[in-house]
Amino acid sequence: MTNQATLIAGVLAIAFLGSFSFAQPQPTPLAAAQLKDGVYWVKGGSGANTGFIIGRKEVVVIDAKMNAESAQAMLAEIRKLTPNPVKYVVLTHSDGDHVEGLSGFPKGVTVVAQANARKEMEAAFKDPKFSALVPYLPSETFATDRPLNIEGTRISLLHFGPAHTSGDVVVFLPDQKIAFVGDLVFIGRDPLIHRQKGGTSVGLAETLRKILALDADTFVSGHNDPLTKTEIRALLAAIVEKQAKVKALVQEGKSLDEVKAAFGIADAPDRRWPSFIEVVYLEFTERPAPPK
Ligand SMILES: [Zn+2]
Repeated sequence: MTNQATLIAGVLAIAFLGSFSFAQPQPTPLAAAQLKDGVYWVKGGSGANTGFIIGRKEVVVIDAKMNAESAQAMLAEIRKLTPNPVKYVVLTHSDGDHVEGLSGFPKGVTVVAQANARKEMEAAFKDPKFSALVPYLPSETFATDRPLNIEGTRISLLHFGPAHTSGDVVVFLPDQKIAFVGDLVFIGRDPLIHRQKGGTSVGLAETLRKILALDADTFVSGHNDPLTKTEIRALLAAIVEKQAKVKALVQEGKSLDEVKAAFGIADAPDRRWPSFIEVVYLEFTERPAPPK
């Protein structure tokens, strides 16, 4: 491994470890709720919201919770509803609160992720702390889209480019008009962009436009109750407005501190995740590295 690759792997491992810093501080009891026939979302337990789809012969799970115990509590909920086995776990991205529960799934389940998310997981799992997760590295990956139809349900996996991370996936059910959007959508806090994982605010806006273009009316995100297009439209508008304001301030030659002051932002004590405004500022001011 080159020095740079080692550095990137280290940064990714730290990003992975810290990625659930905003998750629910107190785990609440896990509960599955039906959205449409055979389609459920699960909140509570440790980690982000998850979902599952019961087909005629098999079950597809979306995201894995944050530890084996919560994953198994979710699997117990599924068993109350169907004897069909879980065939696939689709990961919306590589953050720990969506991924670390994989070790609670039966070995041999097929884990599906976007190719970049797999790379992020591979780098993070080099840490011996995550050795139990290595057998669950995604065995099936894709670049931009992939059908995952199971008998009885059409499922489309979509990647619209770097946004929250470099490997975000939207799980779209065209017949039910439901989309699972992972952490591409946060309501009630600023959008989170993992620059260490190749996420960008410009890409997030682009991805939200594509999510809004889907023929869907229910959106399940990692950390909110199910949402409608109205809330996602408002989120996109707020992002675009902040980007325009930062861009104007950058053009006036303002420094990062001046930009933060214009938004009334003080650095939080936890500096692992720069504020959304800082991310936008860095995107608009960084220059490509000069040729060597
Ligand atoms: Zn995330």
